[in-house]
Amino acid sequence: MEKRFDGRKFDELREIEVKVGILSACDGSAMFRIGNTIAIAGAFGPRECHPKHLQDPEKAILKCHYDMMTFSVPERKSPGPGRREIELSSVIRRALTPAIFLEEFPKTSIDVFIQIMQADAGTRCASICAASLALAEAGIPMRDLVSAVGVGKVNGKLVLDLTKEEEDTEGAVDMPIAIMPGKKKITLLQMDGKLSRDELEEAIKLGVKGCLQIYEIQKKALKEKYKVR
Ligand code: ADP
Repeated sequence: MEKRFDGRKFDELREIEVKVGILSACDGSAMFRIGNTIAIAGAFGPRECHPKHLQDPEKAILKCHYDMMTFSVPERKSPGPGRREIELSSVIRRALTPAIFLEEFPKTSIDVFIQIMQADAGTRCASICAASLALAEAGIPMRDLVSAVGVGKVNGKLVLDLTKEEEDTEGAVDMPIAIMPGKKKITLLQMDGKLSRDELEEAIKLGVKGCLQIYEIQKKALKEKYKVR
């Protein structure tokens, strides 16, 4: 196999489109599209935390709500969050938490709502990219943006940014990775499948390279929002 199903090089991302400030009802919002995967995120806060028993006297709590629209996949997705959506909400929250100065806002909550408009693999990564931009636009103090991408192995080759078709290939390995690029810290690393130690090192390098490219696109979209016209 010299090229991938969609003609991309092994280390090539899908086409990315990012818009910041798309929803006026939210404190911050963003759309992140990577190929046919589209995530929209809306952020609120810091605001009074309800119910009150969830309040932390030391810091803000971050709540993430991930879901997919019923029309986001070829077979209608049943409405409302199921087990997968609850798990992904938690994964996304953990990937974003290190980037936020939660300790500056005791007793409050910061909420991020993420909807997947269209899913073609990599939705947790697209969600993290959209959510970190929505948080930034909401003016929430952050140590860094968070950038994320899927990396894995398809037909024996390490590849960046897998599509659903690639993920469904027999024996495919899928490894989502998220980083705070400026801080050089990994905030999410999961793996579905098996890689050798050498392959893992290569896969992390490939993922970080992809995240750094995404980081540049995220920063450009944020600056675009605040450009003086
Ligand atoms: P991620 O989207 O982060 O890769 P998963 O590995 O759980 O997370 O999902 C992989 C892909 O499977 C999704 O991006 C989507 O394309 C598809 N998918 C997930 N849930 C459904 C569903 N209920 N119906 C059809 N396809 C789905």
